[in-house]
Amino acid sequence: MNRFYGIVIFLSCFYIFEPTVFAQLAYDYPIQPVDFTKVKVEDKFWAPKIKVNEEVTIPYTFQKCEAEGRMDNFYRAAGILKIDKRTTFTFDDSDLYKVIEGASYSLQSKNNKTLSIYLDTLIDLIASAQEDDGYLFTFSRIHKTLPHEWLGTKRWEKEEDLSHELYNAGHLFEAAAAHYRATGKNNLLNIAIKNADLLVKTFGWGKEERFPGHQIIETGLVKLYRITGKKDYLDLAKFFLDLRGKEGHFNQEYSQSHIQVVDQKTAVGHSVRATYMYSGMADIAALTGNIPYQSAIDNIWQNVVNKKMYITGGIGSTRNGEAFGDEYELPNMSAYAETCAAIANVYWNMRMFALHGEAKYIDVLERTLYNGLISGVSLSGDHFFYPNPLASIGQHQRSSWHNCACCITNMTRFLPSMPGYIYAQNGNNLYLNLFVGSTSTIDLPATKVELIQKTDYPWSGVVDVAVNPHKSTNFALHIRIPGWAVNQPVPSDLYTYSDQTSKKMVILLNGKPTKYRMERGFAIIQRGWKKGDHISLNFDMAVKKVISNEKVKANKNRFAMEMGPMVYCLEGPDNVENMVMNILVDKNVTVSQEFKPELLNGIMVLKMQGKSYKELENNTELAETIQEVTAIPYFAWANRGPSEMQVWVPYEPSAVRAKVLPSIASKSGVSSSAVNKKMERSVNDQYYPTDEGDDGATYLHWWPNKNTTEWIQYDFDDMYTVSESSVFWFDDGPWGGCRIPLSWQIYYKKDDEWVPVKNSNPYPIQKSSFNSISFLPVTTSALKLVVQLPDDNSAGLYEWTVK
Ligand SMILES: [Zn+2]
Repeated sequence: MNRFYGIVIFLSCFYIFEPTVFAQLAYDYPIQPVDFTKVKVEDKFWAPKIKVNEEVTIPYTFQKCEAEGRMDNFYRAAGILKIDKRTTFTFDDSDLYKVIEGASYSLQSKNNKTLSIYLDTLIDLIASAQEDDGYLFTFSRIHKTLPHEWLGTKRWEKEEDLSHELYNAGHLFEAAAAHYRATGKNNLLNIAIKNADLLVKTFGWGKEERFPGHQIIETGLVKLYRITGKKDYLDLAKFFLDLRGKEGHFNQEYSQSHIQVVDQKTAVGHSVRATYMYSGMADIAALTGNIPYQSAIDNIWQNVVNKKMYITGGIGSTRNGEAFGDEYELPNMSAYAETCAAIANVYWNMRMFALHGEAKYIDVLERTLYNGLISGVSLSGDHFFYPNPLASIGQHQRSSWHNCACCITNMTRFLPSMPGYIYAQNGNNLYLNLFVGSTSTIDLPATKVELIQKTDYPWSGVVDVAVNPHKSTNFALHIRIPGWAVNQPVPSDLYTYSDQTSKKMVILLNGKPTKYRMERGFAIIQRGWKKGDHISLNFDMAVKKVISNEKVKANKNRFAMEMGPMVYCLEGPDNVENMVMNILVDKNVTVSQEFKPELLNGIMVLKMQGKSYKELENNTELAETIQEVTAIPYFAWANRGPSEMQVWVPYEPSAVRAKVLPSIASKSGVSSSAVNKKMERSVNDQYYPTDEGDDGATYLHWWPNKNTTEWIQYDFDDMYTVSESSVFWFDDGPWGGCRIPLSWQIYYKKDDEWVPVKNSNPYPIQKSSFNSISFLPVTTSALKLVVQLPDDNSAGLYEWTVK
């Protein structure tokens, strides 16, 4: 039972319960998703995840919103709490809205009175924090004398930069729409409308001409338009988009305001902002028939799917600006692939499907959903990834909280809405998009149809669908045939299967093969349907090997493995010596599948023969050992403590990182003046960068310290005579705050004194390579590296070696 909803804030007032109604709109998407309220998921894969979200994640994130001060912001803004203190980020209000959105979805699927009352008290609190004219932003009412540095002195003054006032409003609208849809109550909706009406009055051509620095309000406004039919909301969403890139305004790629949105052809800048914006543009294209909007997002989609998407569906490859990288820039260990961006990618692709009716968009959606999105949350439901890397030497683990909690609360709101992606309809055309054990009743113009899917997908390719129209009638069932089932992992040449199989899909109707026509990736069965009809599908779930486009340097001489929609990875705990970076597998290897019900909540593991490599003492050759290699689904990694992981498996020895011999440094104890002690293991992990920008290799830094003297110490496991040392500096300029240091010096321990070594060459300070010095041999038990930081920057290092 929920651990948290016991608290009572103050008494709720009465609410008007109205039947949920939606406006009739002049234009809309030709295809409409079947609402999550009409689909009940009852399978062994998604239903347990939705349950964990409901029973663990939602109460947990509410509790954290309280513990971390998110709710206190509202109490202070409402004048209930008098202490003038606020949380860190101007977007913190959005976290509470997002959890309310998730909780609303979850209320719909299960009657939970305690949660319902709790939500109402929170909504009362939000109402108390709203100003009389509708403005709602807690930071504006706290600490008025000392505004947050991201805020101006007037409302929205720094909106185009970092204030996030409209971002918070956007999440309020999204939450209000979900709450209204799920519960039929209008208490949160009324708050949202009051706020949206203020925005309509304030913003527009000839009025306040500003756009949101971080997009989301566009889709939020469209949701309010759908409910109320008030066209002002739609117009305001379009205004916010049309203003971007106009001369005389804040222009930057980071927030997709470098050029006008209709002229944008490639995905650039902050990936979450971007993909929320593309979703908003899809809404405008659908709801106004705007062709330039549609062409722009069609081009951008091609750019992403051809050149900027991970095999896991993750997008936004670089940490610098949390942004889309260059074309084919898809590093694995330093992959950013933020959880929020994966969620946004699902939102966007569902809209692209609804606009165009092509299965390829659902292919991208499904790939993201089963891989780079659900990897964002632990199986336990209370640990979360912000970036979702595709390789690790153990430095990545999910955290129980991030001060910037966007991904955590986004996951909380997304998961219970997942049933809304399974079906869609267009008149008497019914689309079966995702294969998920579920029951649904869908209103077609011709009749109501009950659909019951029974399947163990994604572990099995057998899918049975009972089709029960309330009255016998003619309609078309469009069954998505996934790209992966017809040799196309993605709708581009970014990834291909090395082992092409071309079995024609057999679809059984009432036990007999039936005719269908293929159109836009769907098998269409148009006929007179009657109660008791029954469709059987059987997808080939043989393991497939994926080869990357050769322009992706990071995947050179490597392949990935897939089974159905699942991408696999190698992880330490399943492999010899807890290591995977030292493994090579022949890309033609035979792979066997084994379902392990006890492992990681029940997963299909893949087994194959491979080799591992290790360095030998006094020998330049590597030792090669044949061993069994095990792969697990990518989403399930990092649930058993830190270890190595990689998705792209080497098939050429040049791509393998052999197990290295222990060194004096790697056997040393490390201590330092760095604040984050976890970073200390980076300097002697023997994982060397390829250049100063390779943030795949781990590093230690002293940021935000500047102009200080810092140190690192190695305590050897024995006395050694040493005479050489090298350092590889970390430099993340021009974006980051670390540069090569002003100077450095090595000291050795002589009795209890630290004595400088007598170096025979000057201390070099170069980027992108090891900086080595030789010194007169000393016999010692410890060395100390002393570093003078630059005046205006910090410094850091990847590796420090000793010989
Ligand atoms: Zn995020």
